[in-house]
Amino acid sequence: MSETKAPYAANPNNTIGRQFAEPSPTYRSEFQRDRDRIIHSTGFRRLEYKTQVFVNHEGDLYRTRLTHSLEVAQIARAIARTLSLDEDLTEAIALAHDIGHTPFGHAGQDALNTCMKKHGGFEHNLQSLRIVDKLEKNYAEFDGLNLTFETREGILKHCSLKNAKDLGDVGERFLNKTQSSLEAQLTNIADQVAYNNHDIDDGLRSGLISIEQMRQVDLFSVQYDKVMWKYPELTGNRCVHETIRRMIGEQVVDLVETSKANLLEANPQSIADVRNHDKQLISFSKEMITRSQELKKFLRENLYFHHKVYRMTRKAHQVIEALFNVFMEDLRLLPPEHLQLSREALLVGGEAGQARIIADYVAGMTDRYATKEYARLFDVEGSVF
Ligand code: MG
Repeated sequence: MSETKAPYAANPNNTIGRQFAEPSPTYRSEFQRDRDRIIHSTGFRRLEYKTQVFVNHEGDLYRTRLTHSLEVAQIARAIARTLSLDEDLTEAIALAHDIGHTPFGHAGQDALNTCMKKHGGFEHNLQSLRIVDKLEKNYAEFDGLNLTFETREGILKHCSLKNAKDLGDVGERFLNKTQSSLEAQLTNIADQVAYNNHDIDDGLRSGLISIEQMRQVDLFSVQYDKVMWKYPELTGNRCVHETIRRMIGEQVVDLVETSKANLLEANPQSIADVRNHDKQLISFSKEMITRSQELKKFLRENLYFHHKVYRMTRKAHQVIEALFNVFMEDLRLLPPEHLQLSREALLVGGEAGQARIIADYVAGMTDRYATKEYARLFDVEGSVF
């Protein structure tokens, strides 16, 4: 990177390293290589057909996990550049942050977590790490993508203390109450900025929420009123987009300014200072946190729990539970490679080991693959192929 980075930015020449030692890349930084490996992974390609809020077959214009991840990367990189942080690391974390999501969004994760209750649970964050550490099988010398510590740390946004103990290096900060890199902190907030704003767009596009309803929310109404004042004739998508782009802008400016002030006050001289600081240095102002919470609450009540979305949620539960249970009952229903893996896991880890392999298989499915697999197994008149 040609631009000078701040002393507190993550430095690819000084990475904590990879799980398996490898020669340094010739023309790329270590973090660029991480980003490139993520883009070439199977898990990343599957994001195209995984739900964000709306199930993939409901329409071509809604966000998927892939377009969401690209939007997070866009927002996060712009902020990283402004704060002189490492853009490549930021982008790598953003592109991989949702790679462990099940089909059917949060409904799918909740259902799989219920299924896995007796066997250690299921959490998409941990699954993202499991994919990049173990499940991708593309390289001659190791399983997984063998990413740097810094990218893996960013992917693991949160985890329980119990799980942290089993995770080694990336779990330590949860036990020691230290912080992640600024690039990881930043990507986590960029994720929220992206989904809060694009869910408004998708919600309005679907007709499940209206502009009149949205005007109850301060973050929306402030920008909407400005747009209407300047362009009184503006309607439809143009009006919505013009409002949302300003909302994103306002949140990004708040985040940059508050974080700059935090950095000035704390004056970290290295990434070690960032990690040892008593709180996160990348943050919204108090006022923006309140306004952003108001928006989240609105979306939860009016969009995520809208009865039409809720009906789809119910179906998703049914599909995930049925698939998981039928494979647990009879392993021979699994495709051959998963059958082999689950038999091996049964020997080593008992029923919990077997369940984990089945969870990996189900979690890896796209929305449409899960729907098809359900039909192949349960639609009596349908094809088994
Ligand atoms: Mg996300």
